[in-house]
Amino acid sequence: MLAQKKKVPQNYNITPTQRCRAWKKKAYERLGNRCKRCGFDDLRALQIDHILGTGAKDRKTRNRNHVVLYKLIATMENAEEVFQILCANCNWIKRCERGEVNQWAKEPKKEQP
Ligand SMILES: [Zn+2]
Repeated sequence: MLAQKKKVPQNYNITPTQRCRAWKKKAYERLGNRCKRCGFDDLRALQIDHILGTGAKDRKTRNRNHVVLYKLIATMENAEEVFQILCANCNWIKRCERGEVNQWAKEPKKEQP
């Protein structure tokens, strides 16, 4: 009698970290791999931004699970309308412009005489 072959799921040997990186790559490629405002393209300083500023609420519902976000971006139909890539600088500037940060960060610091 032939032994039944066990079904091994695809990507069985991929670690959760590798899986996360693979989805991250797909998500970033989908959104253009560069800062939407200034064109900066060093992936180490690029961040996914919620265009409508609903990131904090969304992070709570996802329990800070990045893979879920990356999968969503890679697979959803209108991802480009909901998410964009910003570099860390542009992301902070956007937060300041929208009044999402403390008062001290809203105005550029005046030069000392
Ligand atoms: Zn930028």
